[in-house]
Amino acid sequence: PRRDDCPWDKDALGRSTWGLLHTMAATFPNEPSSQQQNDIKGFFHILSRLYPCEYCAKDFRKELKEHPPQVKSQQELSQWLCKLHNKVNVKIGKPEFDCSKVNERWRDGWLDGSCD
Ligand code: FAD
Repeated sequence: PRRDDCPWDKDALGRSTWGLLHTMAATFPNEPSSQQQNDIKGFFHILSRLYPCEYCAKDFRKELKEHPPQVKSQQELSQWLCKLHNKVNVKIGKPEFDCSKVNERWRDGWLDGSCD
């Protein structure tokens, strides 16, 4: 079977989860309603209680408590999430991502046209 057709390990799960989360942030409204703001906050809090990597989820919950989701606009949410992801990157020895490029990576495609 293909690798994806077997149970996912922590890394496969992490990659796919980050993909969903960054794409949700990339498509979040510029002027979200209060319902949309509450929904996205609730989504992150529930995810942090159920995320199926227990020690990842524990740090995730601590992080959310110290730095609650910033949900007033697409820009705010994407930047908040980029910083959260960078904290995990640092913790596990991966390079930090340049958050000024987060909309190129997850929303618009790279300026050099390589995603067109
Ligand atoms: P990933 O980190 O999965 O990133 C996928 C892609 O996102 C990258 O290729 C890059 O293009 C882009 N990217 C990278 N950084 C950023 C950023 N800051 N902002 C925007 N885009 C970015 N693993 C552990 O070992 N220990 C943990 O405690 C842990 N906690 C996690 C907590 C959460 C909430 C999640 C979702 C995952 C966690 N993981 C943890 C998994 C880990 O973060 C990675 O997903 C996994 O190691 C696979 O890494 P990767 O190199 O494929 O890239």
